Amino acid sequence: MLDVCLLGTGGMMPLPKRFLTALQVRYNGLSILIDCGEGTQVAQRAAGFSANPVGIMCFTHYHADHISGLPGMLLNMGNAERTEPLLMIGPKGLERVVSALRVIAPELPFEIRFHELTEAEESIPLEGGRIIAFKVNHNVTCYGYSIEIDRLGRFDAAAAKAAGIPLKYWNRLQHGETIDEDGQHYTPDMVMGPARRGLKVTYCTDTRPTESIVKHAGGADLFICEGMYGEADKLPKAKEHKHMMFCEAARIAAQAQPKELWLTHFSPALFKAEPYMDEVRRIFPNAYAGKDGKCAELKFDEA
Ligand SMILES: [Zn+2]
Ligand SMILES: [Zn+2]
Repeated sequence: MLDVCLLGTGGMMPLPKRFLTALQVRYNGLSILIDCGEGTQVAQRAAGFSANPVGIMCFTHYHADHISGLPGMLLNMGNAERTEPLLMIGPKGLERVVSALRVIAPELPFEIRFHELTEAEESIPLEGGRIIAFKVNHNVTCYGYSIEIDRLGRFDAAAAKAAGIPLKYWNRLQHGETIDEDGQHYTPDMVMGPARRGLKVTYCTDTRPTESIVKHAGGADLFICEGMYGEADKLPKAKEHKHMMFCEAARIAAQAQPKELWLTHFSPALFKAEPYMDEVRRIFPNAYAGKDGKCAELKFDEA
């Protein structure tokens, strides 16, 4: 199970009732945070989380509404006497940007490891899956992220028996281990059926529509996408500042066919998103306006 919480839905600045856009994903004891604008640690608290368990932080880009909450959050993690290292992933310049912000949070009891993205597409391994970063099109270098969780095939006891594999190795093979013992060599593919459909959540914000988004949101269980403006007359503004309209996000979803679409990163001038959602749903029916604290539990298919 993959647990997803959209901590905030605002773009540019936090509002009294709208935190800045950030996503927290939990899987198998690991918490991943994507973006950390001003007040994200407050949004985390409001959603019932604390910052300390976050093991990986991903940054889409270095505009303030996506990273300015970092020093406070790091200080808070330090105060909680964290010692586990923290992995940060972000576009080129990550270490320089974080070091500059850390002038006001210099002493931390844990190590920060950096993974700077340099390719148009990169895969960072996770236990049981991966984080895929893909370049999008904003007025500074910006990436979207997919978090993918694999699901192994079904264990085939008949195949294990037929191959004469001793019972004591079954469990280990089932968990992907290759066995080289007692002069025998057994591999998981001898006892496992084909891999089954896993889980995938795709997140992108601060971009014009791109082919890379269509590609990476393809088949996602949940696609969370920027919808900065709902009003049709804001298109020139969206193009100028390299943001996206609600309907543009919907068209991406119509092409990529995720199971579900949530919109986020609303303009501070957008009072309510819902009035524009009928039009969005005409293009992609299973679409929802994001709300601060909106959560979902993504589960493996039953079949
Ligand atoms: Zn932004
Ligand atoms: Zn931006």
